[in-house]
Amino acid sequence: MLTAHLPSGYILAQVPRRTFPGLLPVALIGAVFPDLDMIWFYFVDDRAFHHHRYWVHVPAFWAGVALVTLPLIGFFARRWLNAALVFFAAIFMHLVLDSIGGGIMWLAPLDDRLMSLTVVPATQDHWVLSFLLHWTFLLELAIWGLALTLWLRRGRVENRASGGGIWEKMKKGRI
Ligand SMILES: [Zn+2]
Repeated sequence: MLTAHLPSGYILAQVPRRTFPGLLPVALIGAVFPDLDMIWFYFVDDRAFHHHRYWVHVPAFWAGVALVTLPLIGFFARRWLNAALVFFAAIFMHLVLDSIGGGIMWLAPLDDRLMSLTVVPATQDHWVLSFLLHWTFLLELAIWGLALTLWLRRGRVENRASGGGIWEKMKKGRI
């Protein structure tokens, strides 16, 4: 997935019925966090390996981290448990989205094959162009569309709750 991780985090943050401390930031950070390995990929390993082979893209690693940290957070910092759950949900959503065209090692450490729903063929000179012109990019556009719709709708609801849009506020002398 090239561009849709951040908006997918925004969509995820709309799922819980009630808001709680850290909901939106952890959803957004978790949704993009595994791709921080691109820094290592470009500047340290000089693109020697597929970046989905780094530990931040391995489901078993995150399952282990969640298994250790969630009980600790539940016991010592219960207030942050919901935020931690959303963070791990966002991480796994990232890995699912990366499985559409990129490949994720779902069976690691037993099997190091990158598993993906489809393979994006190198039809263009640059890999980014190949991804942009593949049907899977329509899914990315759909995610952006849904996130934008939710964002605009939320804005309208908030406006109504606070007494209308800018014109209503001006009429009422609030601006
Ligand atoms: Zn990724």
